[in-house]
Amino acid sequence: MFDKIRNWRVRRAVTRHPIDESLWRSALQRCSAARRLGASDQAALRVLATLFLDNKSLEPVEGLDLEDADRVLLAAHACVPILKLGLDWYDGWHSVIVYPDAFMPRRPHTDAAGVVHQTNDAMAGEAWGRGPVILSWADVLNGGRKPGHNVVIHEMAHKLDLLNGDANGFPPLHRRMDRREWSQVFSSAWDRLKEEQRNGVDLPMDPYALESPAEFFAVASEQFFETPATLRDGLPDVYRQLEQFYRQHPL
Ligand SMILES: [Zn+2]
Repeated sequence: MFDKIRNWRVRRAVTRHPIDESLWRSALQRCSAARRLGASDQAALRVLATLFLDNKSLEPVEGLDLEDADRVLLAAHACVPILKLGLDWYDGWHSVIVYPDAFMPRRPHTDAAGVVHQTNDAMAGEAWGRGPVILSWADVLNGGRKPGHNVVIHEMAHKLDLLNGDANGFPPLHRRMDRREWSQVFSSAWDRLKEEQRNGVDLPMDPYALESPAEFFAVASEQFFETPATLRDGLPDVYRQLEQFYRQHPL
């Protein structure tokens, strides 16, 4: 029954609000994680992006104007992590608020309250438990110029992490995944990088990952999709856990 309703919704969204071919091609060109996918996965991503745009409300603020091409690009980025999981993994929230540039939160922000963030001052992105995703459009565009960075994937990873409570780097794992192995892999990678940081060694990922386990998962997720070879070479066990979680093999 639910499958029937779902299939009907999918057909309705894709028929009523299809993504124009030229907009989709332009989004693929600007989204390296999507470009890397095979043709059938790209087609599936296009359907997901259509549903994302139908389900979520993209809300530009402070005079920002988002063109259709921008909306499609944002949806493509956002749907990369759930390509093999499904849009249900983004249930429970509705809005993506988009600032023109880095924004200043006007409230105390603390992880314990279920609010996680990208930086301590001007912020590129933020994800609230059961609340909106907030993004800086300048940082969405800049992500493509900094290898391994993707603020949309980062915030969506927080959203997945928040599905089972606090953002703590422990999203809901699939039935066949080993929770102990996940914890052990991530905590030993964390310990290793902390040690390397103390010794002044160049880290294989953005040191922002070491702000908290939640940031570690979000930054590793960005790298998994954006520069997978770097993550596989630097932290192969983390790469393998993310392959199991996202059910994708970017390499
Ligand atoms: Zn973050």
